[in-house]
Amino acid sequence: MSRRESGLLFKVWEGLRDLVYPPVCAVCGSPEENFLCSSCMEQLEKIHEPCCLWCGAPASAPVADCYECRNRDFFFEKARAYGLYEGKLGEMIKKFKFKGVRDLHPVLASFIHQTYQEFFGNEKFDFLEFVPLSKKRLRERGFNQSELLARSLSLRTGIPLSGALVKTRETGDQARVGNYGEREGNVKDAFALKDRGVMRGKSILLIDDVYTTGATVNECAAALKRGGAYRVCVLTLARSVKNGPQEPGRKVGNIEIAGVPFSKI
Ligand SMILES: [Zn+2]
Ligand SMILES: [Zn+2]
Repeated sequence: MSRRESGLLFKVWEGLRDLVYPPVCAVCGSPEENFLCSSCMEQLEKIHEPCCLWCGAPASAPVADCYECRNRDFFFEKARAYGLYEGKLGEMIKKFKFKGVRDLHPVLASFIHQTYQEFFGNEKFDFLEFVPLSKKRLRERGFNQSELLARSLSLRTGIPLSGALVKTRETGDQARVGNYGEREGNVKDAFALKDRGVMRGKSILLIDDVYTTGATVNECAAALKRGGAYRVCVLTLARSVKNGPQEPGRKVGNIEIAGVPFSKI
């Protein structure tokens, strides 16, 4: 069969498939060709600069360390996320992660790639790493959402995927643990490297789906640093701005977390 004929056959197959299963928006189910309809797309709360230069929390002016990350020992140098873990983006991630709606993977992978280009495009990384699941959790869920995102980013950027981190013990579900002090205790020393030598002197971009208080990615970054990594940055799909310490006057609806303006430090 010639290339032209096989192309024609593919188009006929696509037409038949669309007749039986018309393409729909992966979030709201309305007819849509591109995974996500424009109405759902508009409702995503994307995080733009200015933000905290360290943890990436949205801010009204660039800050060197915002209220959320001041007085904390972070082992990563910079964290950034595509959008807020609310509304449509929160819905998409929950469907992808807990209900196994794999159709959402391409669109979520494109969000991770966009965020990489926006915030990390000029940096050099030796490896992409992802937050591992425990063996038990991986068996239950059947896939690791962070690994899938890291794998697709590796394909798009050419940065090798590492997979050197392992979870060394079961932890309570972070989503059920309250404040960031408790969350830090819950994941303390829960991650390690399979082979400590591989990270020596390396620059790592760590991928996860959601940054809530930063406790999980921070423990992973600590394990990477113990293994000799010299720089660890964090890239997530979403970040929560609700679970951190509450500062009087901070707004979440219109995204304003007051901090110390960079110029005043
Ligand atoms: Zn929609
Ligand atoms: Zn911060």
